[in-house]
Amino acid sequence: MNKSWKERKLWNEKIEAMAEGEMKVLQWRRLKRQLKYDYENSLFYQEKFKEAGLTPRDIRSFEDFQKIPLTTKDEHRRAQQESIERFGHPYGLITCAPMEKIVRISSTSGTTGVPTLYTLTKHDVNVLNEMHSRKYWRAGLRPGHIVLQALSLSMFTGGLPLSDGIQAMGLCCVPVGMEGGTKRIIDFLSLTKPHAIIATPSFGEYLIEKAPSLIGKEAKDLGIRWFFCAAEPGGGIPSVREKLRKGFNARVFDHTGGGHAFHGICCGEEEYRGMHFISPDHCILELIDPETKKPIETVDGAIGEMVFTFIGWEGGPFLRYVLGDMLQIFTKPCECGFPGIRFKILGRGDDMLIVKGVNLYPAAIKDAIAHHYPKTTGMLKILLDQPPPLVKPPLKLRVECDSTLCQEEKVALKEELKRYIRDHLRVTPDIELVPYGSIPIETGATGKVKLIEIVTEKDNKN
Ligand SMILES: [Zn+2]
Repeated sequence: MNKSWKERKLWNEKIEAMAEGEMKVLQWRRLKRQLKYDYENSLFYQEKFKEAGLTPRDIRSFEDFQKIPLTTKDEHRRAQQESIERFGHPYGLITCAPMEKIVRISSTSGTTGVPTLYTLTKHDVNVLNEMHSRKYWRAGLRPGHIVLQALSLSMFTGGLPLSDGIQAMGLCCVPVGMEGGTKRIIDFLSLTKPHAIIATPSFGEYLIEKAPSLIGKEAKDLGIRWFFCAAEPGGGIPSVREKLRKGFNARVFDHTGGGHAFHGICCGEEEYRGMHFISPDHCILELIDPETKKPIETVDGAIGEMVFTFIGWEGGPFLRYVLGDMLQIFTKPCECGFPGIRFKILGRGDDMLIVKGVNLYPAAIKDAIAHHYPKTTGMLKILLDQPPPLVKPPLKLRVECDSTLCQEEKVALKEELKRYIRDHLRVTPDIELVPYGSIPIETGATGKVKLIEIVTEKDNKN
């Protein structure tokens, strides 16, 4: 490998630095081909076109394309179920490639309801690996660097497929995974000397607190130069980023993109400017109004619900698919010099809360609590009487605080948190302070820390 190649800033300069107009031409060519392919190979998509009285031939402009009805996660699940009933397997309706071409089935974490399956061909796996390469290359990782993978290792989209992508770009992957527990991750952190770690931000926060007692040194002495946040919103929360940056003495990256074609990574600067969208050649991104479902123009600063369409994809391409995630788009060039539009994930569709008519995302509450570090540890639970989005006021928060605070300081902290949340989020919460270590770090098979806990009347002793 010659030096100049290693010093190149982009993994795939031809595509990543492509002029906007040229990219639009490429996208349109791939989209036309994809629509024909989806229509010819999927009974589910044929129905979608029929619903709107269209065939792929009728799609002559982007506006025409936006007439194709949206696909929701629920429809995806129903199509899987219907396929099982009709064909005896879940691959008969949305999956477009024949089974002999499918080499991987991965899945979303399935925290709500039946998991939706992603079916990938060898071609799709290569596209995914390319997207992982683009992200980590931009962050500055090069062959010779060791990356410790501390997310879930199972079939979830961020698990084994991610380790595969890291290896495919020539980095050294230590796939420890969350499943073996915190201690194993920490043991391998000490033993393998990784340059970078991919973990949930909560795990990073936990490690900062625990490292001295567990391994006898500060997290910042572990030699980690890159902290890649995934699976939770913390990587985009300023107070959490700051804590991780200082705690590890590392550059902190927020990135997204698991088993599908929508990928992004932030620039790793101190200021969070959103994630650069790095997969426009395989994913068409649209925004819609969350209420009316009408398209919103993707101009600088636009906010809307994300809709994505895979292009140049074989297995189970998504067509105008809605996950319910709210995005803000930035089209002005970023100061970091990297190309492409940027986006901030304002909230995951499944997570939104409504308190007295105020829309609230758990990530914003997390930011408000983490902002008061070190008086709070940043760990919290949002306690709800019923599944979201509707919250019976007051909003109840259980917040971990510094155990050394005296009673008066605790009373003052409660008031401070209440005031801060009221001023910043327009909701006045009820706050219960609990000592450091009371809120468990590992929950669920994916290793994601759930911010929301549903508490029934009986459990709730308050
Ligand atoms: Zn940037």
